[in-house]
Amino acid sequence: MLSYAGSCHCGAVTFTVTGDVTQLTTCNCSLCRKKNALMARVHEDNFTMTADWDTVSLYQWNMKIAKHYFCKTCGIYTFHRKRSEPDHFGVNAQCLDGLDIAAVDVKAMDGISMSVTQQD
Ligand SMILES: [Zn+2]
Repeated sequence: MLSYAGSCHCGAVTFTVTGDVTQLTTCNCSLCRKKNALMARVHEDNFTMTADWDTVSLYQWNMKIAKHYFCKTCGIYTFHRKRSEPDHFGVNAQCLDGLDIAAVDVKAMDGISMSVTQQD
């Protein structure tokens, strides 16, 4: 099975994604826009954190259900637990070593319409 090593910029956060990445998404919600996030949808069974969870900080906003993780040291967004599908991670595609992003279909998600408590 295919496997991708993922990491932040400084290397403190490391993780592994198994399985093929066949689709990436962008999102127009206020957070994804500012992160310029390009994400792969990964089931939790195919995601393994290989660093200590202590290396990431957690950011939550709006409904505070999704869990957005970023490196405590270099600040890079690495992955998040999705609000709409809590058993899935959204993984920063740019953090996956060896993934040919240009070869993967990119879908634009209308996340701003999913924000129910605030529109920004
Ligand atoms: Zn880092």
